[in-house]
Amino acid sequence: MTKHFDVLYLGSGHGTFDGAIPLAARGKQVAVVEPDLIGGTCPNRGCNAKITLDLPASLKNQVDRFQGYGLDGKTKLDWGANYAHERQVIEALPTMIGGMMQQAGITLIEGRGQFSDAHTVTVNGATYTADKIVIATGLHPHQLTVPGAELTHDSSDFLNLKQLPEHLTIIGAGYIALETASMALAAGSQVSLLMRGDQALRAFYQPLVEQLLDQLVAQGLDLHRNWQATKFTAAGDQVTITSAAGELTTDWILNATGRDPNTADLGLEKIGVNFTTNGITVDDHLQTSVAGVYASGDVIDKQQPKLTPTAVFESTYLMHLFSGDTTNAIKYPAIPSVVFTSPRLAQVGQVPATPTAQQHVNLVDLKADWYREATRDLTGQTLTVTDNDQHLIGAAELSEQAENTINTVLPAIQYQLTPAQREQLVTLFPTIGFSAWAAI
Ligand code: NDP
Repeated sequence: MTKHFDVLYLGSGHGTFDGAIPLAARGKQVAVVEPDLIGGTCPNRGCNAKITLDLPASLKNQVDRFQGYGLDGKTKLDWGANYAHERQVIEALPTMIGGMMQQAGITLIEGRGQFSDAHTVTVNGATYTADKIVIATGLHPHQLTVPGAELTHDSSDFLNLKQLPEHLTIIGAGYIALETASMALAAGSQVSLLMRGDQALRAFYQPLVEQLLDQLVAQGLDLHRNWQATKFTAAGDQVTITSAAGELTTDWILNATGRDPNTADLGLEKIGVNFTTNGITVDDHLQTSVAGVYASGDVIDKQQPKLTPTAVFESTYLMHLFSGDTTNAIKYPAIPSVVFTSPRLAQVGQVPATPTAQQHVNLVDLKADWYREATRDLTGQTLTVTDNDQHLIGAAELSEQAENTINTVLPAIQYQLTPAQREQLVTLFPTIGFSAWAAI
């Protein structure tokens, strides 16, 4: 017998569960179809897994900066133990997230879902119908098409390494490339990073990106700009990478050249859901070209950054839409982003390369703040951007605590607080929050 639901989600990541759990708790009949680990990429093979491995790496760098300033003896990062700890933390997550869903009354269906029509999905030969279906199938690593590309690895492979290679080579200069380089350097690997152009982290404020690259180079990064791989060849246990700029032989290659939307084999063409190479096309209510079929999370073709906070916001919006709380179009808030390197680079709002007459940019050295001296975190900068009425409209920071700075100033941007309103918010002292609030 065909089972019917109010809402059926394809995929169980943040594009689904942040909204599906409260939706089910409100009494809607909800199903979630997932062929792989419950929770999707972010908990299992992305954010949570990465930050668990990264925290000891960035802590090591922070401790090392206190050599001669009260701490004695450099620390060593034991990757094997770090990996074992990460597994202990992360392996529990699918059960935990699945348990939260089941407790809310969600039916979990294991398998790959495919549309038969706009309200029907088949999974392993069984048929399920729903008033609304949400495609939240996420992304997968981009595959290179040059000869020998099968000799490269993706970020999931990296996160599964029990020991790091002596010489790691990373292709790409985005989030995954730089975060991996930062961790591997702290763990003592030699790291080469190959940029196909001259710019890393394109969405970030470039003067701070260049400072970040300088700091990674000072930590030992072997950085090559304008270096596009044309061939990979096995060389014993190693791999040789060929490019017009020369050759490089390495132990292990991470392909970190972006991620592509999971739109294949869902039956989208059959039911008329439009999509591009950047993802599924949606309207301002996250509805696809087919009535009753929605999309959420990274699989959407959108201007907003494809990040977990965006997916959380979208799944929560759909929960309100499906519950009848709103009929309004989605209105995205200021969405912050951070690269978890050591130091971190975080930003939110407008960070213009060329400011207009309405954008007033102020860039301050961390050295100007006594608290950064106390934390030995002195080499970055804080950027603030204000409008003609002194509202904060953008901010960025390069520092070991940049994510905390940006989290602190977020309300000032989102709610366009006036200087008088900002004065009413008193932060703890001495903390990074105080420094952040004082900077705006
Ligand atoms: P990004 O889009 O961040 O970066 C891709 C990089 O690969 C760019 O430097 C790009 O260069 C380069 N590139 C693209 N194609 C090629 C090619 N054919 N040859 C060589 N280089 C190439 O992707 P990532 O893989 O780093 O991350 C994927 C997504 O995962 C991110 O967009 C983000 O959504 C998410 N993520 C978020 C994190 C966070 O929030 N901290 C951490 C990790 C991942 P160019 O700029 O020149 O095009």
